[in-house]
Amino acid sequence: MKLLLHSCCAPCGGQVINELKKEGHDVSVYFYNPNIFPEDEYKLRLGEVKRYTEKLGVELIEGKYAHDEWLELIKGLEDEPEKGPRCEKCFMHRLGEVAQRASEDGFDGFASTLTISPHKPAEMINQIGHEFAQFYNLKFIDTIWRKHDGYKKSCEISHDQNFHRQDYCGCEFSQRG
Ligand code: SF4
Repeated sequence: MKLLLHSCCAPCGGQVINELKKEGHDVSVYFYNPNIFPEDEYKLRLGEVKRYTEKLGVELIEGKYAHDEWLELIKGLEDEPEKGPRCEKCFMHRLGEVAQRASEDGFDGFASTLTISPHKPAEMINQIGHEFAQFYNLKFIDTIWRKHDGYKKSCEISHDQNFHRQDYCGCEFSQRG
């Protein structure tokens, strides 16, 4: 199917793009991540996704980077731990935008690379994905990408492609480590 894939960075995207293409989907990548801070890090992650999609001949759509609006959205949740309500809002915001874009641009469905990370709550992400899919009448691919050695393969691709690998999720509140 014609599929819009939300990608947060090249290390998470590489393996998922390859898998979806192997399954026969016509994949376009949507880089929509206004959560990433600082802007230099945002540009670095976007640049790496661009480098890999160009190499594969996959379309890349760049979203708007409005970090101030994202900060407004999560106001009051800054001190929440990862996988908590701040992250839930962050996933809802990004997947909601991806689903809307998929619907407007005539895609059959959408997916996200987020579940390749062992640090992300896959059930929460998939529930949000399914809710937006139902709202927009789209399909949502809910594969938990880290399973079946997916995470290991993504690390191998990152190593082979020499991708920039960040050591925090994305926002300033995940930098505290
Ligand atoms: S830790 Fe990651 S998922 Fe959670 S709010 Fe920050 S950027 Fe979003």
